[in-house]
Amino acid sequence: MRAIVLDEQAVYQDSRPEPVPKPGEVLVRVLQAGVCETDLQLIKGYMGFRGVLGHEFVGVAESGPLEGRRVVGEINCACQTCDTCKAGLQTHCPNRTVLGILNHDGAFADHIAVPQVNLHAVPDSISTDVAVFTEPVAAAYQIPAQLPIARTDRIIVLGDGRLGNLCAQVLAGLSDHVIVVGKHPEKLALLQARGIATALVTDAIGERMADIVVECTGSETGLPTALKLVRPRGTIVLKTTVAGTQTLAWAPFVIDEITLVGSRCGPFDQALKALAEGRVNVAPLISDRFDLSDGAKALEHARTKPVLKVLLDVARASS
Ligand SMILES: [Zn+2]
Ligand SMILES: [Zn+2]
Repeated sequence: MRAIVLDEQAVYQDSRPEPVPKPGEVLVRVLQAGVCETDLQLIKGYMGFRGVLGHEFVGVAESGPLEGRRVVGEINCACQTCDTCKAGLQTHCPNRTVLGILNHDGAFADHIAVPQVNLHAVPDSISTDVAVFTEPVAAAYQIPAQLPIARTDRIIVLGDGRLGNLCAQVLAGLSDHVIVVGKHPEKLALLQARGIATALVTDAIGERMADIVVECTGSETGLPTALKLVRPRGTIVLKTTVAGTQTLAWAPFVIDEITLVGSRCGPFDQALKALAEGRVNVAPLISDRFDLSDGAKALEHARTKPVLKVLLDVARASS
């Protein structure tokens, strides 16, 4: 099959062996995949991953109860038998693999093997272009899943990229005081069009005022900036994963009694519902699309250009 494989660098291969589904897994024929910041970090060495990249995808299940239907898939493949899994914390299973991120080939390919329990049918009302955003929208919904959000909470989202945009849209449905701080006027304009307040990083922003700061910059400078903006006893939600080791003076966390919440994968059912109801608008985020065979070019494009979402078209639903 065709695939974009990370081995030293990301390269296109046209004769990668098809994945062999393990017990409980089904083969999914990939229709479309999305390039994520995590893919770019993996190429830089994050997680030391080798294999087929890609964890944001829509495909057609080729077997199992959802056979023939369009599906999206949760990315953590848990053992379902350890104490962590039995406690309901499958996304933290110590034995897990993660699609396209950890010991499991991903979705930048004609086929991907996915545990049946990870699959969710895509309602017919959601186009494939929109459904491909389910995984990052779910990641945004993980914030209210971890943290009660009040209408009066003053929330700053740092970063106007893919994830910052989605987090801001989700949080703006819960709080009346969301502001996105970014570097790119054209990306901030997309949020303004949704009625969400924005500011440029160069603007004067009240320090130590925000109840919650959500860090989505994808940059190591994000957390120190968040620390300046959060109020004493406030909360910083860290969404960014950065390759390598960062340093930070952590005394302010103690002095100001700041809560730091790491936040990762979220609920797919809520994301699909929000997409079906149009509560999160993702179409304007699609910057470019490439054929799977141009996947290496697509990754380079996503890395070097000020784009939002880059999609990989893999196949058509009916072919
Ligand atoms: Zn991702
Ligand atoms: Zn487990």
